[in-house]
Amino acid sequence: MAKKDYYEVLSVTRTATEVEIKRAYRSLALQYHPDKNPNDPAAEEKFKEAAEAYSVLSDAQKRASYDRFGHQGVGAGAGAAGFSNFDDIFEMFGFGDMFGGGGGRSSRRTTVQRGSDLRYDLEISLEEAATGKDASLRIPRLETCGECSGSGAEKGTSAETCATCGGSGQTRYSQGFFSVMRTCSTCRGQGKIIKSPCTNCRGAGRIEKEKTIEIKIPAGVETGSRLRVSGEGEAGVGGGPSGDLYVVLHVKEHARFERQAENLYSAEPITFAQAALGAEITVGTLDGEETLKVPAGTQTGTVFRVKGQGMPNLGGRGKGDLFVAVTVITPKSLTKEQRKVLEQLAEVETKDFSDPSFVQKVRNIFG
Ligand SMILES: [Zn+2]
Ligand SMILES: [Zn+2]
Repeated sequence: MAKKDYYEVLSVTRTATEVEIKRAYRSLALQYHPDKNPNDPAAEEKFKEAAEAYSVLSDAQKRASYDRFGHQGVGAGAGAAGFSNFDDIFEMFGFGDMFGGGGGRSSRRTTVQRGSDLRYDLEISLEEAATGKDASLRIPRLETCGECSGSGAEKGTSAETCATCGGSGQTRYSQGFFSVMRTCSTCRGQGKIIKSPCTNCRGAGRIEKEKTIEIKIPAGVETGSRLRVSGEGEAGVGGGPSGDLYVVLHVKEHARFERQAENLYSAEPITFAQAALGAEITVGTLDGEETLKVPAGTQTGTVFRVKGQGMPNLGGRGKGDLFVAVTVITPKSLTKEQRKVLEQLAEVETKDFSDPSFVQKVRNIFG
């Protein structure tokens, strides 16, 4: 039987680009993949044809040779002869995830799997973020079943090796230079058959349990900081390693402080007299109080820096600063005595609008 022209097989022109060829092959491979067309020799034939045509046309050297000498130039079927099964073809051409989620690649299913990673979101206060904290987390997760030690078989019994596939989970089907690996239908790829499943885990080998895990949150963490607890994720399948646990931290908003990286920001009210005469005021810090010297003539909105009262550096190198913005408060009600003093002040005070920053402020208000 004469071999079909490779370009015809892929339904592309002789001048098709690499991308066009790849796209054409991908669509044929999806259409005729054996997993989608079980027991359909015609589809399988088309699939093989497409794979062979692609193996030649996707290789610039082989394609040039084929263009000049036809099938002779590349040797009949030589392009695909080296592949032992369809999965190899996909891997070779970077189509490994072509069918998504493993549906088309079930023949590679393995009975040993690493457990899933787990994510745990933990909310902490700003104070806790500043000092660090020991926390104990209760994590619901899949653990290896203690009754059957993960085998899934009832105590005293054991899983039997699948006779159909000899334990490999796959059956081989050969035709010509292709041999197709298929998921064993007897054991569904597990390689084992459990005659009497463990009643504790219903044969799954894993069971959901809540475990308490102690973690140390270092000082200086911020929202989005991730702590990895190695091996504390879900148990693996069939003796596979456990996944990891990731604790993702969320630092709650603070009533008093704003945080930006290692620095903290707060606002403190001062009286007109303190602003005008200067004063020592007490400002709140995360873990107590500090005295802050406000010089005479302080304007509202002036920011003072209190060194070393910010957040600690996560790497343990020093601390940030606290920035305090003062606001001059105008009293809303006055005692008789206060009123009298202020009236005396009004009589003697002079207005000075010559300060350029004041003029700019006025412009900002009305501008
Ligand atoms: Zn089997
Ligand atoms: Zn069990």
